Order: sequence, then C-alpha cells, then structure tokens
Amino acid sequence: MPTIKTVETLVVQLPTRREHKWAGLTEVIGRYVLVKVTDSDGRVGWGEAPALKDWGGEFGRYFGESAIIVKSVIDTYLAPTITGIELGNIAELHTRMDAVIRGYPYAKAAVEFAVYDVTGRWLDVPVHVLLGGKSRDRVPVTHSIGLISIDEARTEAAKLAAEGIKTIKIKIGVDPERDVAMVHAVREAAGNAMELCVDANEGYKSAGEAVQIIRRFEDCRIKYVEQPVMGIERISDVARRIDAPVMADESAWNAHDAIQIINQGQVQIVSIYTTKAGGLYKAMEVGAVCRAAGLLCNVNGSIETGVGNLANVQLAAASPAVTLSCVIPVSVPAEAQSGQIGGIYYKDDLLVAPMKFEDGAIVVPDGPGMGIDVDIKKIEKYQIAI
Ligand SMILES: [Mg+2]
Repeated sequence: MPTIKTVETLVVQLPTRREHKWAGLTEVIGRYVLVKVTDSDGRVGWGEAPALKDWGGEFGRYFGESAIIVKSVIDTYLAPTITGIELGNIAELHTRMDAVIRGYPYAKAAVEFAVYDVTGRWLDVPVHVLLGGKSRDRVPVTHSIGLISIDEARTEAAKLAAEGIKTIKIKIGVDPERDVAMVHAVREAAGNAMELCVDANEGYKSAGEAVQIIRRFEDCRIKYVEQPVMGIERISDVARRIDAPVMADESAWNAHDAIQIINQGQVQIVSIYTTKAGGLYKAMEVGAVCRAAGLLCNVNGSIETGVGNLANVQLAAASPAVTLSCVIPVSVPAEAQSGQIGGIYYKDDLLVAPMKFEDGAIVVPDGPGMGIDVDIKKIEKYQIAI
C-alpha cells in the first residue's frame, strides 16, 4: 500500500478579473496556499487552502486563517504527523491532524484534498467515487456579484443571463438604501427567469434591521437570504419573520453547528464548504446531518483557484444533500477564456484544461483524483513569496 511521503506548501496569487468584495473582507481574493503531497511511489496530489484572515465563525467561534498561518500550521505540525499514513485512510489522516493541533480547518482541508487527489490517482478513480459516488453529473453555478456599483451590477447581470447563468447571488449588508436599490436593479436587468439570492455576510446589526430591509426587496422573488446577521439564534429570528428561506453560512462550519441550527427549527438552508468543516470527509458529514433534518444545502466557497475549486465540484457531485445551485467559480485558464464572465473571477487559472460549462452548469470531470490535472507552469508563474 502506498503511503504519504512528503507534504510541501507554496503560495500563489492569481490576477482577478475585477475587484471582488463582500461585507467584512479586508484582503484580496486569490492569494492562497497550495499543498503538494507526494506518495511513496512518486505520485502527486494537490490541495488548496483559500484562507482569509477575516473569515471566521460567529462571536470569535472559529478564527480567521491566512496564507502565512496555513503554511506555518501545515509545515510545522500537519506535515510531520501525517507522513507514513497509507493512502485511502482518510479517517486516520483526520484523527492525526486533529490530535496534533486544534482547529485550523482550512489548513487541514488543503492537506486532505491533496491526499484525496493522490489516492484517486493511485486507484485511477475520481474523488467523487471515494466519497460514495456521483449524486449528479452537473453542478449548476450561482454567479456572485460582489460589492460593485449598481450600474456595473446591471451590466453584469444582463450579460450573465445571456451566458446561461440561472442563479445570481448579490452581496449586500453594507448600506440599506444601496442594498434595496441594488436588488431591484439586478432583478430588472437579469429578467424574471433568473433566480436571485442575497448574502449579507452578517452585515446587518440586528434581526429587526435585517427584517425591515429584506421586506423592502422581497417583491423581487428572493430564493434565499444568506446570513443576514451574526449568530445562530439571530438568523433563526430573521427566518421566523420573513417569507424567503434563510441560509446559514458563517453560522454553519461543521456537523455540530448544523445540529445547533436544526435545533432552532427556523433556518431552512445550510451552505457547506469543503473547508469550513476541515475537508471533504467532514463536509460530507455536514451534508448528512442536514439531509436527515430535511434542510437544503449548496456548496459555497471563497472563490478558489481551480485546485480548490475541483474539490468543490467533487463535493457537490457526491453529496446527496447538495441540491441547490452552487456558488463556485468556473475555473478557466487564460488560453481558454473567451470573454465569458459567468463564474469567472480570475484572468487565468492553475488547471491544464478549463472546467466544462454547459447550460449554466459545470460538468463533473471524471478524470482520476480531482478530475483535471494542475498546470505546473502556471503554478510556477503565479507563485509568490510571503
Ligand atoms: Mg456567504
């Protein structure tokens, strides 16, 4: 049985198509840690931690991680403790990582993706097979409109509709008047066939304020309202008082959080990340808990490069709980870009081939491991020192 031989880390920075921001974000997207795992036969697997220092749980419950923190945690603690583990023993991988250092789910997730990738390459199967199989062949993409001007959003929404995107998420939570005007403008520009959702990233100060603002754009037919305020009890309060379903994101990191949300009995949707729970294995657990309680799920993320985004696609393909459109990029290297903006946040990407995008959805890749090979030349090109 092959074993994990070496674990290496490096940091990349991808050029962005335009500035992408949300409430609370204080750094650029795309400066992320890559993990390279080599097995005892010389096979290589890749993972990514799209860690952001200002992205955490509610009331300090989980801490922000950044590139330098993730790299340090992996190099110092995780790499030495997982060397020698047999490929395929993901349970042992998590036991050892959790024993050597508490927390740091983004660092652990990145290592786990690389191990899943190399395991899939060893067995010559895609990662979704290792997760239990494919629940779907295509992953519908929700395009996220960040904190841009209303005029820019109008232009972008019309173009997205023309490209076949079926769901748009609008970042709100900064200024009530702007938010209300923005949602109405995007509804008008995108047309009635588009599904619209909003994400306040905990930006409103109280449940009452959130309810008042949401009521002013509920006539725009909102599919869901994501994380309007901070706190499981407070998003549950909002959910009790509005018609649109509420989605938990910052409140929902792991399976235990999902149980707390379910116990409040109000929130109807949970946003699963490959990273918040600490990897695909634990993200599948979040999905299982939500599914057992009748909650709907999507896969959401931090605008990963193609390396981390392949893990998103594998999770969205495998988890039976994930029935909603997913807020994940369509990873396309520069040579394959053709002016499409739906799901595209970067000018270039780290994969040898683009993700196949058809009718508003990513076609789940069936190649071994994460499904598409990484482009080593691109990784070298975008590697930065930190
Ligand atoms: Mg969110």
